[in-house]
Amino acid sequence: MGHFHTLKGSCHCGNVRYDYDSPVPSADINIRRCDCTFCQKQGAFYTSHPDGRLRVTVKDQGMIRKYRFASLTSETWVCTKCGVFPFFTCDLEGRLYAVLNVNTLDDFQFNRMTVPTLSLGDDPVEKRLARRVRAWIGDVRIEFEN
Ligand SMILES: [Zn+2]
Repeated sequence: MGHFHTLKGSCHCGNVRYDYDSPVPSADINIRRCDCTFCQKQGAFYTSHPDGRLRVTVKDQGMIRKYRFASLTSETWVCTKCGVFPFFTCDLEGRLYAVLNVNTLDDFQFNRMTVPTLSLGDDPVEKRLARRVRAWIGDVRIEFEN
């Protein structure tokens, strides 16, 4: 596998920190948004790459609230200390997949006006899960310090 381009990010208070190892340079990462009501209310933008790698460190596990909605097949990791959610995860057949909230990357600029909006919310669950296996970050590790 080629070399990675590591991007750092966190929630606002730093309880959740991560390194995203992207197989493509930061200028080329794929960014999208979703037109579901949750994502519209959050104003979230997303990125993922199946060959990407996500390494997460959570200081205080007790401050994490996992929010599920719609098909209930993915979890939103919300830091309850600061209210920011850095990513979604989805556990499929024992493997953890993730999609990152681009707004939580540090020192990362992008043009919000040109980001495409996807309508995925009406897809059947099997189709959504298959898409996650194809498109979400396929190498995810989360460590808890407390
Ligand atoms: Zn936080």
